[in-house]
Amino acid sequence: MPKTATRLDRLLMEVRACRACEAHLPLGPRPIVRASTTARLLIVGQAPGTRVHATGLSWNDPSGDRLRAWMEVDRETFYDEALIAVLPMGFCYPGKGQGGDLPPRPECAGLWRAPLHAALPQIEFTLLIGQYAQRHYLGQRRKPTLTETVRAWREYLPHYLPLPHPSPRNLMWLRRNPWFEREVVPVLREKSHALLADKIRRIGARAKAIK
Ligand code: SF4
Repeated sequence: MPKTATRLDRLLMEVRACRACEAHLPLGPRPIVRASTTARLLIVGQAPGTRVHATGLSWNDPSGDRLRAWMEVDRETFYDEALIAVLPMGFCYPGKGQGGDLPPRPECAGLWRAPLHAALPQIEFTLLIGQYAQRHYLGQRRKPTLTETVRAWREYLPHYLPLPHPSPRNLMWLRRNPWFEREVVPVLREKSHALLADKIRRIGARAKAIK
């Protein structure tokens, strides 16, 4: 590690070497996180699925495609670590249960979230995707169901925005709750673009120059 490495660099190295719950991980430890000290937007999801585990890249799956469409950001912007940090509630693929992927390993948040947050001083806005992230960050402020929590999104601004998981398995939820795309997605887009404005402008200018 170079002498100029930051506290975050050292921490990320420790996270990537973590094997704390190895015995419970069917594919073994492969912590998948993205962070830099300059990031202003934080995305907190559940835990990597098999495709993300295989590629080592957060949200590199159909759920990620939908999330980027909601945010209206391209992959280049989304994967710019200087702007966006990605810290799921569990950093490694937890395996499958009867109703889909298992919950994030409980050891993970206790070990890593507080030190990582302390090393990310610029985060202004956090997307809380799914019930595990909402439970951890909102605590008693969370409503009895995910739908009610998302519906109460105004209560959690300006720091948090609760979202449903953008998984294709949630299409039925999206159909049943059309208010989400009507009310919440535009806010997600507006807040994300405000934080990522310079990058989005640069990419737009580059695309125009190529035409
Ligand atoms: S899930 Fe978290 S605690 Fe468990 S091995 Fe991966 S990084 Fe470590």
